[in-house]
Amino acid sequence: MEIKERIQKLRATIKYHSKRYYENDAPEISDFEYDKMFEELKTLEAQYPEYYDPTSPTQRVGGMALDKFEKVKHEVRMGSLTDVFDFDALRAFVRHVKSEVGEDTEFSVEPKIDGLSVSLKYENGILTVGATRGDGITGEDVTANIKTIRSIPLELDSPLNITVRGEVYMPRASFEKLNKIKEENGETLWANPRNAAAGSLRQLDSKETAKRGLDIFVFNYQAGSLEDDTIETHAQTINKIKSLGFNTISMLTVTSDEDKIVNAIKDLGERRPSLSYDIDGVVIKVNSLEKRKEMGEGTSTPKWAVAYKFPPEQKVTKLLDILIQVGRTGVLTPLAELEPVKLAGTTVSRATLHNIDIIREKDIRIGDTVIVQKAGDIIPEVVGSISKDRDENSTPYEMPSVCPSCGGELHYDDADDFLEDEEDFTLGALRCTNPSCPAQLERNITHFASKKAMNIDGMGGKMVKLLLDNQLISDASDIYYLKKEQIEALDRMGEKSASNLIGAIETSKSAGLARVIYSLGIRHIGEVASAELASKFGSIEALFEATEEQICEIEDFGLIMAKSVVDFFKRASTREIINKLKDAGVVTEETVIERTSEFEGLTFVLTGTLENMTRDEASDMIKARGGKTSSSVSKNTDYVLAGESAGSKLTKAQALGVKIIDKEEFLKMCGEK
Ligand code: NAD
Repeated sequence: MEIKERIQKLRATIKYHSKRYYENDAPEISDFEYDKMFEELKTLEAQYPEYYDPTSPTQRVGGMALDKFEKVKHEVRMGSLTDVFDFDALRAFVRHVKSEVGEDTEFSVEPKIDGLSVSLKYENGILTVGATRGDGITGEDVTANIKTIRSIPLELDSPLNITVRGEVYMPRASFEKLNKIKEENGETLWANPRNAAAGSLRQLDSKETAKRGLDIFVFNYQAGSLEDDTIETHAQTINKIKSLGFNTISMLTVTSDEDKIVNAIKDLGERRPSLSYDIDGVVIKVNSLEKRKEMGEGTSTPKWAVAYKFPPEQKVTKLLDILIQVGRTGVLTPLAELEPVKLAGTTVSRATLHNIDIIREKDIRIGDTVIVQKAGDIIPEVVGSISKDRDENSTPYEMPSVCPSCGGELHYDDADDFLEDEEDFTLGALRCTNPSCPAQLERNITHFASKKAMNIDGMGGKMVKLLLDNQLISDASDIYYLKKEQIEALDRMGEKSASNLIGAIETSKSAGLARVIYSLGIRHIGEVASAELASKFGSIEALFEATEEQICEIEDFGLIMAKSVVDFFKRASTREIINKLKDAGVVTEETVIERTSEFEGLTFVLTGTLENMTRDEASDMIKARGGKTSSSVSKNTDYVLAGESAGSKLTKAQALGVKIIDKEEFLKMCGEK
């Protein structure tokens, strides 16, 4: 492959995985593989400066602030760290620093916590803003969620104006507990505690965050004043921050001796398995604050620090067979059946091979001697084959041509197919397209009943499985034909829970057209797109007639989405389900909201969680009365409707003297109380 092509391929692949990791909290490859690709790209870009591109992933930090949160501009850029993968590179860094700012330079050596970076801003000693790193310049305002972390002080003993930076993480015990619940509910598991922490901190409902057992280690003083002239080093700032009541980074070693730095890293490596949280490396930083300034910053990383990344543990074993698992999103995952081998404390006999592209690229064949590793993620993976030991009669592996579960047609997830915000996309995956594939049925019905879809309380993954196992349902619409006695007779169900479930099913019938569309699980059609389809077409029946051209008229809709909708409504199975839903009394038409004008000219800002009312519902009520909503508080805001755990918007409203109302008052204004 030409250098230019290789660089472009690396940039595209890294951008894709970066989005999965930072924005969707759902990585597909190990950090180690990602880091290696990143390093290769950096090396090539340095060797071939003619291919410089300001949009290359090497030119920016991490992810992007998601629109679902208010954005916060950081006072001090929140950078990343340059990685080193061996002690030679680490020693070279230490020597370089010493040659720049003095032989006697001290370094702090501290664990690199595997979580997500946040900044905490205190004004007059009060926590006012908690934000994620985002792209390093703009982050997401997650103040309400940050406040649920018990070890973060809401108020300091002294009225300081400071900003500190720390790593929010999920302790291993909470992670295991949460994943177990997810497994029971038939939901996709978190790949590792880091992703679980990132997903949990970026919840719209802070009550949900509060349940996730998150914690923090503060590792830096970013801005403001600690009001202590004696402080000259990083270690001193950490002590000072600790005295203010923060949970600060521990196991910190300060030394100027190169060998001692290496030993401190090895020591942390040995302690790693017994810690109650994950660390993915060790950070080595210049201790003197003055010398840090002298060295300065690079494009996205400081010049005075590096991260030493622990290599994953690897073992050699034999690949006995390749099994195909059909996941509940229809994805066919090749799994390696291995001769059992002890790896990172557990016996491994299965490992993921990811997808056919990776199998081909690495030319992994059944019967090969292979290298397996565990790198941060819970699932071990096959790194590659030792081809010199290969049986000469072996042949390259081929994936099945139809779904092994139902014989359905397969679709290949190509990079060209990828749409923004798509949850069900796995680069390089083969996917069964049959919606009634038994391997997918449980997942489809669980999605149908989920909170954002028909919102049937009590109809989680476990319940769906129970109903399917007892043959009480065979598609989503059958839910509406269930009888209380049938549910009552199920294992561990009583009269009360059965009647609650029947009640929830009944209520869901009027969930509205947008939710009905979303619940059908049409590929490429998420919540927002469903709402847009509902408002343009007004009824399910109209969607059966809709053409690709008409659908493409909706802003943000492209041909792939339009085609997916048309294909879906062409299927005989869709007609069957819709008829059953309609016969059961599910509302499949847009309800027309009568508009009045009592809020004409008024602007509302919504913040926090309202009891039994989503922000969308409140916002619809405002709009139906001629009012407007805005995402940020300003002098022009008339009312701030504040619920529980309201964040920085509430603080700002108080500062600007904007009228703050609660749900009760709001309902009165709407004439509903
Ligand atoms: P990074 O995680 O390698 O290093 C920077 C971060 O370290 C900082 O943001 C900080 O929050 C954190 N940190 C933890 N303890 C610290 C301490 N004591 N002192 C200073 N900082 C500390 O860099 P990054 O830019 O956040 O992310 C890159 C990481 O994300 C890599 O490990 C990469 O493998 C992973 N990643 C993986 C994928 C994937 O698909 N698997 C995709 C994208 C990124």
